[in-house]
Amino acid sequence: MHELALAQSLVEIVCEAAQANNFCKVTTIAVVSGELVGVVPDALEFGFEVLSQDTLAQGAKLEIRQLAATIKCSSCGFEYPWQTYGYLCPQCSKLGGEMIQGNEFYVDYIEGETKEEKENDSG
Ligand SMILES: [Zn+2]
Repeated sequence: MHELALAQSLVEIVCEAAQANNFCKVTTIAVVSGELVGVVPDALEFGFEVLSQDTLAQGAKLEIRQLAATIKCSSCGFEYPWQTYGYLCPQCSKLGGEMIQGNEFYVDYIEGETKEEKENDSG
């Protein structure tokens, strides 16, 4: 299962970042996932839930932002959605271009609680 492998690396990345930031608990994980990676959010969340148990990331909320696959025309520079036009530029009708977005999968940011930060309760 594709998502399980992604969830595994997600837990590793997040736990490392949490330690580097002195987090005792991770609350939110923002993930960016390109359309072509083909992640099923539910499956990723499930895998993450299972694999993050007994780690700093346990119980964290996963926010998955999906990015549409985007092509940049090599002729006129126009950027258009691959879903709609494929590799055919709607601006100048040139075939071909460069995929500039859609293959990425990374952690955008994480939020968490640090050990010392306990005084402010008014948030
Ligand atoms: Zn074009």
